[in-house]
Amino acid sequence: MATILGNIQQVRARIARACDVAQRPVQSVTLLCVSKTFGPDAVREAHAAGERCFGENYVQEALDKIAALADLRGAIEWHLIGPLQSNKTRAVAEQFDWVHSVDRLKIAQRLSEQRPANLPPLQLCLQVNISGEASKSGLAPAEVADVAQAVAALPGVRLRGLMAIPEPAGDLAAQRAPHRALRELFESLRAQGLELDTLSMGMSADLEAAILEGSTMVRVGSAIFGARA
Ligand SMILES: *Cc1c(COP(=O)(O)O)cnc(C)c1O
Repeated sequence: MATILGNIQQVRARIARACDVAQRPVQSVTLLCVSKTFGPDAVREAHAAGERCFGENYVQEALDKIAALADLRGAIEWHLIGPLQSNKTRAVAEQFDWVHSVDRLKIAQRLSEQRPANLPPLQLCLQVNISGEASKSGLAPAEVADVAQAVAALPGVRLRGLMAIPEPAGDLAAQRAPHRALRELFESLRAQGLELDTLSMGMSADLEAAILEGSTMVRVGSAIFGARA
């Protein structure tokens, strides 16, 4: 029977193989374990297996989990990867370490204002709608540079990079195309002087394609915790 530990070992092996093919050091890719819909015990198991970074989609579910795992708070980084509404920014600014899903300046401004002064800056990525789907959230690629410059100037947050959730695609070549587009956008921002170091891309189905295109953080849920209900 599959265990969380066994699944994590398989995901680590996939990351290592992809880094090998890409001729990148394995430490250049961080594994973000996406624990949405799974309970605190599943997070404890992954933590016991050596994982430190956990991603959540739903703010209230995450706050409950963070509270249930208060004893591990100093040993875990909590990342919000799901949509964030204005009325939830205060709790997120107070409780999380990272937000990957910033899709407008106003949200970043609120997070910056509401970040408690005794905590380090909240680490942010801008979410980009890289496949151009009408239904998905995220900034249009053409909007990203202006928003990035404005977010980078905010005091309570630190802009680290870009995040995307490309449309599912069949083969490796098709999977690589949107990841390559996000990397090219990332490189153009760096060429404008923004000090970015994080490309949050790649999930259970396409982490190899993402790593080949330069991902520094893969967000993996079902391959670790199993299928979601
Ligand atoms: C659920 C989710 C993931 C993980 O997806 P899997 O296919 O289960 O690995 C990654 N990123 C985001 C934004 C998600 O919502």
